[in-house]
Amino acid sequence: FSGFRRFGLRIISVKAEQASSRVTDDDFIIEDVPHLTDFLPHLPSYPNPLKNSQAYAIVKETFVKPEDVVAQKIVVTKDSTRGIHFRRAGPREKVYFKPDEVRACVVTCGGLCPGINTVVREIVCGLNFMYGVNDILGIEGGYRGFYSKNTLTLTPKVVNNIHKHGGTFLRTSRGGHDTNKIVDNIQDRGINQVYIIGGDGTQRGAALIYQEIAKRGLQVSVAGIPKTIDNDIAVIDKSFGFDTAVEEAQRAINAAHVEVGSVDNGVGIVKLMGRYSGFIATIATLASRDVDCCLIPESPFYLEGTGGLFEFIEQRLKENGHIVIVLAEGAGQDFIARDMHAAEEKDASGNRLLLDVGPWLSQKIKDHFTKVQKMAVNMKYIDPTYMIRAIPSNASDNVYCTLLAQSAVHGAMAGYTGFTVGPVNSRHAYIPIARVTETQNTVELTGRMWARLLASTNQPSFVTNSEELKEKAADINNVDISAQI
Ligand code: ATP
Ligand code: MG
Repeated sequence: FSGFRRFGLRIISVKAEQASSRVTDDDFIIEDVPHLTDFLPHLPSYPNPLKNSQAYAIVKETFVKPEDVVAQKIVVTKDSTRGIHFRRAGPREKVYFKPDEVRACVVTCGGLCPGINTVVREIVCGLNFMYGVNDILGIEGGYRGFYSKNTLTLTPKVVNNIHKHGGTFLRTSRGGHDTNKIVDNIQDRGINQVYIIGGDGTQRGAALIYQEIAKRGLQVSVAGIPKTIDNDIAVIDKSFGFDTAVEEAQRAINAAHVEVGSVDNGVGIVKLMGRYSGFIATIATLASRDVDCCLIPESPFYLEGTGGLFEFIEQRLKENGHIVIVLAEGAGQDFIARDMHAAEEKDASGNRLLLDVGPWLSQKIKDHFTKVQKMAVNMKYIDPTYMIRAIPSNASDNVYCTLLAQSAVHGAMAGYTGFTVGPVNSRHAYIPIARVTETQNTVELTGRMWARLLASTNQPSFVTNSEELKEKAADINNVDISAQI
C-alpha cells in the first residue's frame, strides 16, 4: 500500500466491532479518501442544507452514516477475510462549505465517451438544486483550458439539453499540462471545488493537482469522475458509456452479419474499442449471437496451423458460408509489430499508438484464402469506433451518470478531496484516486465471463499456443475469479 501513502491517504484498520457486531477479527480494512481537515484541521463545518432542499425534504434517511462502507469482496465464504472496503458515497450530515461561498469548476479531458455531457449537466444541476450553489465555471478544452482559455458560466439552464448530444460540451484535449499553473489559476479565480472528468491520464493529473493543493494548504476539494469507454478502470463495477458502446456496437455487428450472409464466403470483421481490455468486444459478442469469433488484447491468438484462426474460419465458411469476427483494437499488437517490423509510436499524452489490427487482419485473411487455399473470400470490414464514441448515452448510462455526478457533489460538499466515485458491487463509493490509476481491469481469461464467451461462440481458445495461458489454466484453482461472474 505504499503507493497510497505517497498520496497522503489514510488506510485505517477498523476494529471489527465498530463496523459490525458479528465480526470478531480485525481484518476489516478501509481504504479511506483524504479530507480537507487532514491538512486544515480547524476548518469549520456546517449542517448540510440538503434537508431543506425540495428533493430531500421528505427522504427518510437523508444522510449516509460516516461509518458506512462498501465491501470490495462480495463473494465470501464463512472463513474468508473481510478484505478491503471503501467509504459509501452520499450526502453527509456536515458539510465543509457554505453554499454561497462555493465556486466550483468542471473540466473534461482525454477522448470522447457517451455520457460526458450527462455528468457535466448533473454536476451543475446537483450543486444548484441540492445545495443552492450558483457559481459554477466550465473550463474549456481540457486541463490546458485552466490557463489558456476563458471560462464558461454553467447554470442549470445552460446545461439543460446537453445530455442529448454526444461529445463534450466543454471540449477536451490531450497532451501535457502544467500542474502548478492550474493550481495558480484555481487559487487566482477563487475556485474551491474542482470536478475532473477523464480517463487514466486525467485521473493521474487530478492526483497531482490534489497533492499540490494539499501542499499549499488550500480549501479546495478535488473530485475525479473516471471516464473510459473500455471499462478498464480498476475497482469500479463499470465505467459510464460502456453500456451505450455495447449497444451501439450491436448495429455494426448486425450490419456485418447482414453483409456476409448475403454473399458467398463472406468474412465480416468489426473492430471495436479496447486498447488493453477487451470488455466491449466480449460483452458485445455475448449480447449479439451473430459473432463467430471474438479476439481481445488479453488473449494472444495465432493464424496458421491446428487450432489457429485460419483453420476456424475455413471450418465456419464450409459450415455456414460466412463468418463474423469481432476484434478489439488492442488485439494481437505484439504479433502485428513482429509481422510488420513496426517501431513503437506515441500520442501527445505519451500513450502508445496502436497498430491498426483491422486492416492488417483483413489483408492476412484475404491473402491466405486467395493465395494459399485458392478460395476467394468476400471481406467486409467495419470500424464503427468514432460513430460509437460520438453518440449520446443511453437510458441506463444516463441514470448511472446522474448517480456519479451527485455522489461527486455530495463528496466535495462533505469536504472529501483527492477522490473518485464509482460503484463497487453496485453501491457507490468514494475511492482514492491512486487506487483507480495504479492498475487496469482486464478480461480474466481464466474467469467465468470469458469461459461463457468461448462456450457461446465455440471459437478456439488459442490456449495450446500460449505457455503463459497454460500455466494460468493449470493454476486456475488459485485464481480469484469471483469478480467476473
Ligand atoms: P482516455 O485515454 O480514456 O481517452 P485519458 O484521460 O487517459 O483519457 P490522456 O490524453 O492520456 O487521456 O490524458 C488527458 C490529460 O491528462 C492530458 O491532457 C494530460 O494533461 C493529463 N495526463 C495524461 N497522463 C498524465 C500523467 N501520467 N500524469 C499527469 N497528467 C497526465
Ligand atoms: Mg488513457
